[in-house]
Amino acid sequence: MHTQWEITKYCNKCGFVLEEKAALKQCPNCHKKYYFNAKACAAVWLTNSKNEILLTKRAYDPFKGWWDIPGGFAEPNETLEDAAIRELHEETGLEMTNMQYVGSLYENYEYESEVVPIVAAIFKAKIKGNETVTVNDDVSDYQFVAIDKIDFEKIAFENQRKFVQNLSLE
Ligand SMILES: [Zn+2]
Repeated sequence: MHTQWEITKYCNKCGFVLEEKAALKQCPNCHKKYYFNAKACAAVWLTNSKNEILLTKRAYDPFKGWWDIPGGFAEPNETLEDAAIRELHEETGLEMTNMQYVGSLYENYEYESEVVPIVAAIFKAKIKGNETVTVNDDVSDYQFVAIDKIDFEKIAFENQRKFVQNLSLE
């Protein structure tokens, strides 16, 4: 398993082998610098009118079959708020209101044979309007669960599990 950083070997401007220096790699020929950055994500701790939390089951690896709070990767030209709103809608068909930023977490997300560092903004929100869930292909199941009944052992990703556990205690 390699990180994207380890895989980046050649200058995409001139083709020379990059030299590694502290937190960056640099082309010895044209001096272009390459920085290793995390990919941005957003996720939502969403509650219904009974104050139950929405969990979605992951249909694909990493962590296929484990539970998640809805969310995903930000697209280009999108804020983290936009990403959270779009991902929630794509995965569940739901709309949200009273959106509030609560903090962020990082993970090393394993995608095929690569480790992708991510940083995720977590929002709290309430369902706006219709509470009927219609899942997309990324989600194999969903549940609304009372906050004191969440099975943390089944929550995907180490840091998300800790974050959700901390939120449940608030
Ligand atoms: Zn170069």
